[in-house]
This record gives sequence, C-alpha cells and structure tokens, in this order.
Amino acid sequence: MRSPPTGPGSPSPADPPEPVVGAHTDDGAVPEGDTVYRLARRLDRRLAGHTVVRSDLRHPRLATRDLAGCSVLGHVTHGKHLLTRLSGDLTLHSHLRMDGEWSVTRPGRRLPPMLMPHVRLVLTLDTKETVWGVRLHDLALVRTSAEHEVVGHLGPDPLRDDYDPGEAVRRLYAGGDLPLVAALLDQRRLCGLGNLWVNELAFLVGTSPWTPVRDVDVERLVHRAATMLRRSAHGPGRMQVTTGSTRPGEEHWVSGRAGRPCRRCGTVVRVVAEIPGDAARRRTWWCPVCQPGPPPPP
Ligand SMILES: [Zn+2]
Repeated sequence: MRSPPTGPGSPSPADPPEPVVGAHTDDGAVPEGDTVYRLARRLDRRLAGHTVVRSDLRHPRLATRDLAGCSVLGHVTHGKHLLTRLSGDLTLHSHLRMDGEWSVTRPGRRLPPMLMPHVRLVLTLDTKETVWGVRLHDLALVRTSAEHEVVGHLGPDPLRDDYDPGEAVRRLYAGGDLPLVAALLDQRRLCGLGNLWVNELAFLVGTSPWTPVRDVDVERLVHRAATMLRRSAHGPGRMQVTTGSTRPGEEHWVSGRAGRPCRRCGTVVRVVAEIPGDAARRRTWWCPVCQPGPPPPP
C-alpha cells in the first residue's frame, strides 16, 4: 500500500505508508530490550553495508559533525540503548525512551509533516533512501572503542553475547531491601527489562511486586527473565506475550488488566501508580492472591 513515487527532485510532502521502523510499530509494544533488539535487526537489513552520503544531526552537541562517507557496519544493543556502528571507529548512540522512532523512506520521500519538528537525525544513504531518527534521546557520537562511555554503567543484558547471569544475580541480590520491581527496573543490575516484563515476572514467580529482592529466588527469576526476553526478541511470534495467548486482552497475566479477574484465580487484578506524578505514567499491576507478600507502600 505505497503511494506512487514522485518524480526526481520533487519530494512528496508525506509518506505515511512507508514502514516506520520504530519500536512502537510491532503490535504496539513499548520499548524494552527485546523491542530495541528487533529494531536493530530491522535497521541492519536496511542500513548495514551502505554508505552515508549526507548527514544532518539535529542536536546542539553534534550539529557540526558530518557522517558523510561513513559506512554503516551494523547495530548493537545494550538494553534499550541502540548503538549504530560506523566505519572509522565511530558509534552513534541513541535511546528511544517511550516515544522514539526510526524510519527509512524511499528516495525523495519525507516523513509526515507532524513528525518533522521531532526529527533529530537524517541520513541519506548511497541507495538514496533516507533514514530518519525521530524523538531520539541521549544522542551521542563516540569512538566504537569507547562505547563503554555510554553503556558501561549498564548491567548484564541477556540479549548480548557477553551476558553473565551470575553477575546479574549478584547485582540483584545486592539490592537487599529494594522492592522486587524496583530492583528489576534498575538497568544497572539486569539490563533490558521494562515495566511490562517486570510486572509479568513478579506474577510468574508468585510474589508481591514489593517483596524485598533479597527474599526472592533471584537465580530462578533471572533465568526466567532471560528466557522470556530471548523468546520475545528471537521468536517468530509476537513480542511481549507472556501467557501464550495472542487474543486481545489475553496477552498478559496482570499488566494492563486492572479491575479484571486474574486469569489464574479469578481475583480482581489491582494497580497502583509506581511513583505519583511519574511522567512515564508507570503502573504496577498485581494479583493479591497469586502474589502474596508486602502491600504497596502507602
Ligand atoms: Zn490470581
């Protein structure tokens, strides 16, 4: 369903049907480690092996940098951080947070006008395709050999080759009294889990989201987290389905199911705001029967 191409040199005002390869386009999944990993693979298919012929980095710190002549070697992720590796020992770092997107448009095409004010990065490739980075956060250009400067603070990531589950267990147990969900969301302990996974994991291990992490079987938890993230990142099916059912409203055990009966025991699923006034509107969902343990803080 693509609109007909316009003639050379006459960019179409908008190209909405062109696939936006943002983290939101796969069944509305929110950016977590697995979604960003899949985004990296999609970007590899469009960009890797190609040369940048023109670049426009719309960030005060990078406005004078020019990536023309660089080849795109490929993409690597660490949790929700995306690393675009370029020739010449260069890596472009970006983070999608909750709203970032990447798009690739055919020659002469543009993004819909409403997105243009949010464009932070434009790369024209030797294929004449254009790569757009929309609402990219923490944009930085570093030496590939110095990527640790932007991701070195992160914990082990089950989707990376250098994943060390023992280290993840150690860092989680070191959380001590921290509530389970807070420890799991801390990317310095285990990297790649967002709010959805964290809520589902607490249900699957059968404990309250506010159980101190030191009281949880962290080895089992980490194994389960890694298995779920990998299945979601590599599997042929839909991402971020934890119940095995892809029917609307049945994809998750507790996440997004406040006020509805628990799918295991029938008790009404509850929800609280994790942090009052949280800009990300993060919520914690739980079944008080299937997940015994401390109640939410008052
Ligand atoms: Zn239940």
